[in-house]
Amino acid sequence: MSTFAGVLGFPVRHSRSPAMMNAAFAELGLDWRYTALPVPPANFAETVRALHASGYRAANVTIPHKLAALEAADELSDTARSIGAVNTLTLSGDGLIVGDNTDAGGLLDALGEPVPGSALVLGAGGAARAAAWALREAGSEVTIWNRTARRAETLARELGVGAGTADAELLVNATSVGLHRDDSLDGLPLVDARVVADLVYGNGPTPIARWADERGARLVDGLEVLVRQGARSLAIWTGREPPVDVMRRAVVQASSSTSAQV
Ligand code: NAP
Repeated sequence: MSTFAGVLGFPVRHSRSPAMMNAAFAELGLDWRYTALPVPPANFAETVRALHASGYRAANVTIPHKLAALEAADELSDTARSIGAVNTLTLSGDGLIVGDNTDAGGLLDALGEPVPGSALVLGAGGAARAAAWALREAGSEVTIWNRTARRAETLARELGVGAGTADAELLVNATSVGLHRDDSLDGLPLVDARVVADLVYGNGPTPIARWADERGARLVDGLEVLVRQGARSLAIWTGREPPVDVMRRAVVQASSSTSAQV
């Protein structure tokens, strides 16, 4: 019988993760089936508890469940505990649920070496939290800016990094600005960074990607970050080397009629 895996989100219908993960499982010759599981917040905890009995051994977790998944897990990796969010669940034979976070490592994999020495992270939600944590751990000097300044200050204090704006070698867009093609960049402190990472992706270049391109900055796009976090999840679940090229092709080909993410 197939092993089941899936992504829990709400909404999640347009997720590219099933295309990406099923392509990877096929490439590895594994009889795994990965599906999108729309789960309203009120049903999240009971759904996670029911996964094992339904044949699921693995799950990704996306908006709006990454904090609830932290609570739902029986055990947490050090990374998930430090970041305070879970995007990867592993269900072992006895039903134990282990929570991990691959968003942080996925961003670093997408950036490659060497990690820029300084970074300005825009946003103070779950994505910004993972990005700022990852970059701080990698030795980058991190500053967090957010539209609602108080949230940036709170997160920065928690992580022991700076808040506000600062010149930086790397600019990370971890806001939801750019989900819509015509989103305005006015109001974002777009500093003169040589590397730009945009966690947002859609069909075609995002406003931040176009801006980075015009300035000749190196762009790390949201699809690459998606692929890299998925690759890390797959490695945790299967112990196999993820076929990153196959996953990248599947993500790019997956047509999406909306800009829904993960
Ligand atoms: P979230 O918790 O809802 O946070 C949204 C953030 O965007 C907040 O900091 C919010 O600021 C800010 N924001 C919203 N509208 C804004 C505007 N008009 N101007 C300036 N800032 C604005 O979301 P999240 O989970 O952190 O995710 C953020 C983005 O990253 C989403 O688009 C998500 O899809 C993407 N993401 C991508 C990946 C990937 O693998 N590529 C992984 C995770 C997330 P306020 O606090 O002021 O409201």
